Amino acid sequence: MRIAVVSDIHSNLVAFETVLDAVGEIDQLWCLGDIVGYGPRPNECVERLAASKHLAVAGNHDHAATGKIGVEEFNPFAALAARWTADTLADPAREYLAALPTVQTSGEFTLVHGSPRGPIWEYVLNVATAAASFDHFEGPFCLVGHTHVPSIFARSPDGEVQAHRIVGEAELSLKRPGWRFILNPGSVGQPRDDDARASCLLVDTDRGTASWRRIAYDIAETQQQMRRARLPARLVERLAHGW
Ligand code: ZN
Repeated sequence: MRIAVVSDIHSNLVAFETVLDAVGEIDQLWCLGDIVGYGPRPNECVERLAASKHLAVAGNHDHAATGKIGVEEFNPFAALAARWTADTLADPAREYLAALPTVQTSGEFTLVHGSPRGPIWEYVLNVATAAASFDHFEGPFCLVGHTHVPSIFARSPDGEVQAHRIVGEAELSLKRPGWRFILNPGSVGQPRDDDARASCLLVDTDRGTASWRRIAYDIAETQQQMRRARLPARLVERLAHGW
């Protein structure tokens, strides 16, 4: 089975559609949350995802957009965009987002937005958080988003945990008996690793590989849509810097 794993689309439809075109034929699309927030096309991103054969979990921005959590813990720009998103969402998209679970499993994979310990808010950014996270899911693989940084956290058979940031593109063999992994595909719609290209992960369960891809998209088009929607300039500008 060939699976495209995407996360943190953040209403960036241009980036999302470019990624879907680039990955080609897939059996399933797995989405790790934050489908909306920050960007200009929340309804269209939800529709595009919902129309595909997919699994998805909720992120903090999805919960904010549907009123499940407040925006007090968001920075001022994110809070403004969250309120704009809540006002812009049509009923079908709001209902879709409100119904999303926070954890999904498929075969050997667990899917969450933040971490398996704190699916909505916790960031897996370092060895300490990763080490704690390994106690909160079954099976060898957990897929997380939320940090917008493509990464691998690996636990060896003797319990040692290592962290690796992915720079550019990379491939990992998943056929490692006794090892466990937490994998982050990076962000489709708002990368934060100084690479402005959209990021995603392709999992091939037959070959036993996970491949990180970087895909250039028309950033200027998304920025234009954001300006027309009067979203904060700071959010518009950061797309060009990959931060
Ligand atoms: Zn996010």
